[in-house]
Amino acid sequence: MCSSEHSEEWMLCPQCDLMTRLPPIAIGQKASCPRCHAALIVNWSEPRRRPSGYALAALFMLLLANLFPFVSMQVSGLGSEITLMEIPQVMVSEDYASLATLFMLFVQAVPAFCMVTLLLLVNPLPLPQPLRIGLARILFKLKSWGMAEIFLAGVLVSFVKLMAYGDIGIGSSFLPWCLFCLLQLRAFQCVDRRWLWREIAPQPPLPFRPQAGISGLKQGLRSCPCCTAVLPAERSLCPRCATIAHARRRHSLQWTLALLFTSVIIYIPANILPIMVTEALGDRMGSNIMAGVILLWSDGSYPVALVIFIASIMVPSLKMLAIGWLCWDANGHGRRDSEKMHLIYEVVEFVGRWSMIDVFVIAVLSALVRIGQLMNIYPAPGAILFAAVVILTMFAAMTFDPRLTWDREPENSMKEPSLDGK
Ligand SMILES: [Zn+2]
Ligand SMILES: [Zn+2]
Repeated sequence: MCSSEHSEEWMLCPQCDLMTRLPPIAIGQKASCPRCHAALIVNWSEPRRRPSGYALAALFMLLLANLFPFVSMQVSGLGSEITLMEIPQVMVSEDYASLATLFMLFVQAVPAFCMVTLLLLVNPLPLPQPLRIGLARILFKLKSWGMAEIFLAGVLVSFVKLMAYGDIGIGSSFLPWCLFCLLQLRAFQCVDRRWLWREIAPQPPLPFRPQAGISGLKQGLRSCPCCTAVLPAERSLCPRCATIAHARRRHSLQWTLALLFTSVIIYIPANILPIMVTEALGDRMGSNIMAGVILLWSDGSYPVALVIFIASIMVPSLKMLAIGWLCWDANGHGRRDSEKMHLIYEVVEFVGRWSMIDVFVIAVLSALVRIGQLMNIYPAPGAILFAAVVILTMFAAMTFDPRLTWDREPENSMKEPSLDGK
């Protein structure tokens, strides 16, 4: 049995399953996997004070952002002004409670919850151990569902869309919201998952001394997907964080393909049905995503037309193709170029959430453009379908096990993690 002091030195790459022995890492340095270059650990200076400061400041900015008017619009003497909280209220009054819930969850509740959780976990508070473990388990799962910065991008796109119709103004809450987006991203960035789990409980001892440069699967070891502890492959329950997992995610490809197939089916009506209805001087006109892009392009707003085209049409379609390709390749087909497939996986993971921009644009437009007889914008069923496509493809990417891409690789000669400054 390898003692628990030594178990902290060993780490299985969560992305490619390569066993590495972590050298001593200086403050401010980052260790990356020698094979897939995923960041393994970062040794932050002031690991408690830094994230606490950012999280507190972020929460204060979130409070300010909810107190005052957010944005306003003036069209020929008539005006409308909204606060952040009015956006979901308007959607509920239009019978789009599902969109309002998504907005409240992704834009406000999840980022706020994550900031409070960070504060509770990085500071040595007398919390009961099961609560600490439970909070740490959900914290990293929720991370990709916080979409404050994507909403901000949606607000900016709405501004450009509306500039043709009237004067857009920003309220006192707008700047605090921008700061909130930056601060919450930074707070997350300054917390190293492995450090946080070590603070909660020591890594369980290793059953034997591992060999660096060989995948965990080949030596009968697995990495806990939640707390990164190295465990015997046959033990499904992690003794530190109580997460149940296996050496490879069970039925990963089946799940990914099922979710992918569902999203492809929903993607067709999401593109055909209108995503919003514009009512101007008594005329009601529905428009789908492509029609919106064409309208922007013909108005001369080329950059915004491109942003919407890339975020709402290109990214979802390419993402679905890429997930399909990853599954096909992991199933033993293709040219078996693990580095290239890994790059594709990382891009899919990163860009997936950004397709939500269009849903947030509709949220802002339908809340702000309420100018009596002159002009009104309402959400339409296509928006819900489109949101469903984005969420389903996010789940599809999450259920895909990236280690499958690397399993056929021969042993690696590079055993030492690469260190660089952070
Ligand atoms: Zn790796
Ligand atoms: Zn664990």
